[in-house]
Amino acid sequence: MQLPLLHHLLDLVYPRTCAACGREPGRGGRHVCWDCRTRMDILGGALCRVCGDPVEAETGHAFTCSSCAGHRPHFDLARSAARYRRPLNAVLQAFKYRSMACLAADLTPLLAACVGVHYGRVRFDALTYVPLHRLKERERTYNQAGLLARALSRLNGFPPVANCLRRVRPTPTQTGLSAFQRRANVRDAFRVTMPEWIRGRTVLLIDDVMTTGATVNECARVLRKAGASGVYVATVARG
Ligand SMILES: [Zn+2]
Ligand SMILES: [Zn+2]
Repeated sequence: MQLPLLHHLLDLVYPRTCAACGREPGRGGRHVCWDCRTRMDILGGALCRVCGDPVEAETGHAFTCSSCAGHRPHFDLARSAARYRRPLNAVLQAFKYRSMACLAADLTPLLAACVGVHYGRVRFDALTYVPLHRLKERERTYNQAGLLARALSRLNGFPPVANCLRRVRPTPTQTGLSAFQRRANVRDAFRVTMPEWIRGRTVLLIDDVMTTGATVNECARVLRKAGASGVYVATVARG
């Protein structure tokens, strides 16, 4: 059966609703409607040249934010597709907490565009993602960052995803913590399980949301320690 016909039949049995606004999504996307897509706050303009943190004002020149100037991150660069604001935050919360794994199909093109714009000249040898602790992954049944990484690999023809990072202890949610507390919270929380996949390679590290960057920075630290020659971060949203 052809895919469009199958989708049409599925729509009759299980009508789709937009994950952000609840309306019928139409043909613009599978689970995010056209209006919500167009309202996403895609990042452009002035960004920190290292961590990609946006500033509201137009600087007219490249700059390094005070955080990166104070502590150079372990990753080479980090970039995000859009701001963590409505409607994208609602979509990501549904993706993460309402078992809507299908949203990977709607979110991956955003991530792919971001990677294409910012990392078009980088040749990645390995692709990986921020792991969940095994207890949390069992509870959630999937890792949203892993789904994005696999979908991105297929879409962009990148190397297969290496499941080479492990979260060795559960970490309380980073929500509501200061930047200092976030760094302490994830310190030594990750291990590289397959250093042979990493050594001497340029790694693209995927996550869904980046806020202060403490989590991806800690992952980058252990990837570097395992011999990665470069670590680049891409996330769908920037908090
Ligand atoms: Zn919508
Ligand atoms: Zn920065």
